[in-house]
Amino acid sequence: MQYINYGTTDLVVSRFGLGCMRFPKEQQEAIDMVRYALDHGVNYLDTAYIYNNSEVTLGKALKDGYRNKSVIVAKNPIWDVRKYDDFEKYLDEELKRLEVDYIDIYLLHSLGAENFDKVIQFDGFTFLDKMVEKGKIRHTGFSFHGTNELFKKVVDSYPFEMAQIQLNILDEFQQAGLDGLKYAYQKKMATVIMEPLRGGHIVNNYPEEVDYLIKNYKEKRSLVEWAFRWLYNLKEASVIISGTNNLTQLKENISIFSDAKSDVMSEEDLLLIKAIRTEFEKKNVINCTGCKYCMPCPYGVDIPEIFKLYNSVSVMKSHFIDRLVYRDTILHAGNGADKCVECGICKIHCPQSIDIPEELKKAHQALVKK
Ligand code: SF4
Ligand code: SF4
Repeated sequence: MQYINYGTTDLVVSRFGLGCMRFPKEQQEAIDMVRYALDHGVNYLDTAYIYNNSEVTLGKALKDGYRNKSVIVAKNPIWDVRKYDDFEKYLDEELKRLEVDYIDIYLLHSLGAENFDKVIQFDGFTFLDKMVEKGKIRHTGFSFHGTNELFKKVVDSYPFEMAQIQLNILDEFQQAGLDGLKYAYQKKMATVIMEPLRGGHIVNNYPEEVDYLIKNYKEKRSLVEWAFRWLYNLKEASVIISGTNNLTQLKENISIFSDAKSDVMSEEDLLLIKAIRTEFEKKNVINCTGCKYCMPCPYGVDIPEIFKLYNSVSVMKSHFIDRLVYRDTILHAGNGADKCVECGICKIHCPQSIDIPEELKKAHQALVKK
């Protein structure tokens, strides 16, 4: 495992961070996975108030001396904050779930324009200062889904020690983007990458043209490895988090990160990545990461699953299975796009700014086509 100094803090962290958002359903399996990661050099654990039961599971995994090997990153659910005291109420709940006295790095979760306004309105910066003083948190940061312009505004608004952004081979110019990453790095902040495989979309059902590109390249690596390599090649990216959900995947990731040094890619390698991106851009119809922030839909529409199928239908040549799943599972259970009444609630929560009701109409048409 490769390690890196974490911005201006005194922490030294593994370049691979275990994302705890997509833990396996079986708690013991998740606990074993966390401990395997910690035993094999990963010390960075990323969780959040809204990741279902993740904090409770993590708390159990960190018993028996494992807490001492770990750096815990947790996040405050800003969208649920209605007054100043709510910030601390949620933090206290997280400390209880995790069964720890303090959190190493505490983030304001998913800052976009609306959540950032809330932080200002309810004095979130005073909250962070006070929690550091009280010793409930050690370091401060924020995670982000918004425009590049807003990202810079947030970075400049408070002496945050870290910023967590979405970045991957397809998102160089989206959201904070590579430019945002460099901006935060210049300010000496630690920078953490989430969605390195864009919710698995980059490596599941990728276009056959991409397959051709990687198979015919002089260096033989899997697409997962190229996607991670492009990120750890960036000296500005401190940690790359991946939401691993089984041990096999975790072992593969740890192996990839055993050699995760910056500046290892040649000009030719970077051209390969550019060619891969171009192939994706030709095929993809929707930019959904599967984060589920739009869920639940009050009318039962399974938005992320429908978009996953929609993208798959547009990327893959074999459309049959996707349409079968849509018809026999999603529509059958009453969770299809046909149930959407265009109330717009989901749209407010989408970090990718997808016009969900409009895209659902298109997805439905594509998925019911014979
Ligand atoms: S716009 Fe449609 S999908 Fe979104 S919450 Fe309303 S009914 Fe559900
Ligand atoms: S539609 Fe938006 S909020 Fe919903 S899963 Fe996709 S990216 Fe996330």
